[in-house]
Amino acid sequence: MNASDLRIQSRNLIGGQWVSAADGGTFEVIDPATDRRIAQVADCGASETRQAIDAAAGAYLDWSRRTAEDRGTILRRMADLMMRDQQRLAHLMTLEQGKPLSEARGETAYAASFIYWAAEEGKRLYGETIPASSSDKRILILRQPIGVVAAITPWNFPSAMITRKLGPALACGNTCIIKPAEQTPLSALALGELAIEAGLPAGVFNIITGDSSTIAGELFTNSLVRKVSFTGSTEVGKILMKQAADHVVRLSLELGGHAPFIVFDDADIDAAVAGAMASKLRNSGQTCVCANRFFVHEAVYDAFASRLAAAMQSLKVGRGFDEGVQVGPLIDDNAIAKVEQHVSDALSRGARVRTGGKLLDLGEGCSKRFYAPTVVDGFTPEMKISGEETFGPVAPLRRFSSDDDVIAMANDSPYGLAAYFYTRDASRLMRVAEALEYGIVGANDGLPSTPQAPFGGVKQSGFGREGGRHVMHEYTNIKYVSWGLG
Ligand code: NAP
Repeated sequence: MNASDLRIQSRNLIGGQWVSAADGGTFEVIDPATDRRIAQVADCGASETRQAIDAAAGAYLDWSRRTAEDRGTILRRMADLMMRDQQRLAHLMTLEQGKPLSEARGETAYAASFIYWAAEEGKRLYGETIPASSSDKRILILRQPIGVVAAITPWNFPSAMITRKLGPALACGNTCIIKPAEQTPLSALALGELAIEAGLPAGVFNIITGDSSTIAGELFTNSLVRKVSFTGSTEVGKILMKQAADHVVRLSLELGGHAPFIVFDDADIDAAVAGAMASKLRNSGQTCVCANRFFVHEAVYDAFASRLAAAMQSLKVGRGFDEGVQVGPLIDDNAIAKVEQHVSDALSRGARVRTGGKLLDLGEGCSKRFYAPTVVDGFTPEMKISGEETFGPVAPLRRFSSDDDVIAMANDSPYGLAAYFYTRDASRLMRVAEALEYGIVGANDGLPSTPQAPFGGVKQSGFGREGGRHVMHEYTNIKYVSWGLG
């Protein structure tokens, strides 16, 4: 696909208009697989953010008063357009993010599915009536939109992390400002174009790109912004939580994870390896729900480890556009440095590389951001890899012998996003699922994410849920009306 087919948009969407930064500033977007510059995108700041907030506030009354049916029709049209342009959107995504083209196509469909889901779920924002304690009163519960909602999103899912917020926020009658990550603004801006084509009124969906602290500074101090939904690192989530406190801005935080993956002695080993590969290697290991700590029962350790290593070795690593590639580059040099540091720290403390464990040189035209799919034997609690999110294609393994021990080890983390385990014993399945201190549990399932189910964490993985009917609570206020009959 050539550059004109991609229809790269580099300006920001404010009040239905495509605008450059007031001072003409831009920043570069780089292809992580080749280091080539793809685009110069508007570097907007506080004044443009204020304009976007004003535009969203101006559009709110009309949008919130429309019927859910009307809003749903426009949103469904937007999702249809995403599917019409699936190939183009996938190309843009692979270009700026690096993931294999097949995964980018999958993410585009996944992103559209959140909008389809929300378009329907918006029709089911049911209220309640509650029996009153006196005969001359009635108690009504209304669910209403919040107002102007802002969303700050990460680079690892440049489209889905936006639609997971945008779909339900708009379906509930809110208006939105989206601030995508600096590394992946093009997928976000492409969504803006499709939203306009779908007939979304001016100001309902605005997109601002530029310095994140400056933009967030305006979002959290402008009294027109009633909610901020953030997906990203726990470190930044904590900064935003402090900023939100000053004006008591409502927040949702979808933060980092450090998922345990447990293989019990009665597990179907082939299924566990397939689940481990799906969970570990998606997006080259750069997902918040990636399996990061593998606990394998001593009776099946060797069988699991050797099959996992063989599966890892068979993967094709390369540029996302190349035929048959399953693992792309990491997003930037810092990501590579972190993975290298985690592996070298583990080796220096006694772990052993079973396969991988090195940077790959893919030759001329390729960046130095390709890391070999890696299995490390024998990680222990004092290693960095045991305590921090690695965000790369590295699977550290350790043995366990009792259910109680492994549950304690799995829960020994400040994070609580996703956890996985494999067993064929139904009683153990329920006991373990209940004992894991995580918001999402994959029981014999390495890929639990889906628009129908509530996605989100506990502990330092944040709060709030995205997906399912539960997400609609994130974008509505409850109003209690006490009705005196007189
Ligand atoms: P990040 O560094 O926290 O950035 C996320 C977003 O926050 C980006 O748009 C970034 O903008 C912005 N940001 C950075 N510093 C900020 C500040 N001081 N004030 C306001 N905004 C700021 O995270 P990332 O590296 O993009 O994404 C990876 C992390 O996201 C991982 O920890 C992963 O686990 C987590 N994640 C969680 C979920 C979930 O659902 N729980 C899903 C996906 C990813 P700039 O890039 O422009 O600076």
